[in-house]
Amino acid sequence: MEIEKVKEILLEKRASILESLENSSKEDLNKKDGVEDAADIVTAELNRETVYKLSQAEKETLFLIDIALKKIENGTYGICEECGVQIGEKRLEAIPWVRLCIDCSQNEETLKAFSTSNEDLSYYHIIPTTFEEEEEKKNLPE
Ligand SMILES: [Zn+2]
Repeated sequence: MEIEKVKEILLEKRASILESLENSSKEDLNKKDGVEDAADIVTAELNRETVYKLSQAEKETLFLIDIALKKIENGTYGICEECGVQIGEKRLEAIPWVRLCIDCSQNEETLKAFSTSNEDLSYYHIIPTTFEEEEEKKNLPE
C-alpha cells in the first residue's frame, strides 16, 4: 500500500473520530438540560457512561493514529516497535495504526491473558498468519 494512501486513511479516520467525539459531547449537554424525572436521570447517566466508554476507545485509537502519522513523518511507519521487523501488508491494511507485528502482538496477548480477561483477544486474530513458506517446503518431492 502507498504511504500517501495510508496517510489519507489515517487522517480520514482521525477526522471522523474527532467529529463523533464532538457530537457525543454536544448530545450529552443537550440531555442534561432536558432531564426531569428519576427515570430520565438514570437513562441519562447510562448514556453518559456509554459515551464515556466509547470515547475512551476512540481516544485510544486517536492516540495510535497520531503515533502512526509521526512514524510516516520520520520514515519508520510499518516497522514493529518491539522487534523492528516490517509488519505484514495485510495487517497494516486491516489496522493501519497497528504498532506491533503479528508475533509480538501474540506474545503480548499471551502475557495479557494471564492478567486480564480474554475480551480483547479477538481483535488481533482477524489477521491470519501465513505459513506459505513452510507449506512449500512440505510439498517438495522427496
Ligand atoms: Zn515484532
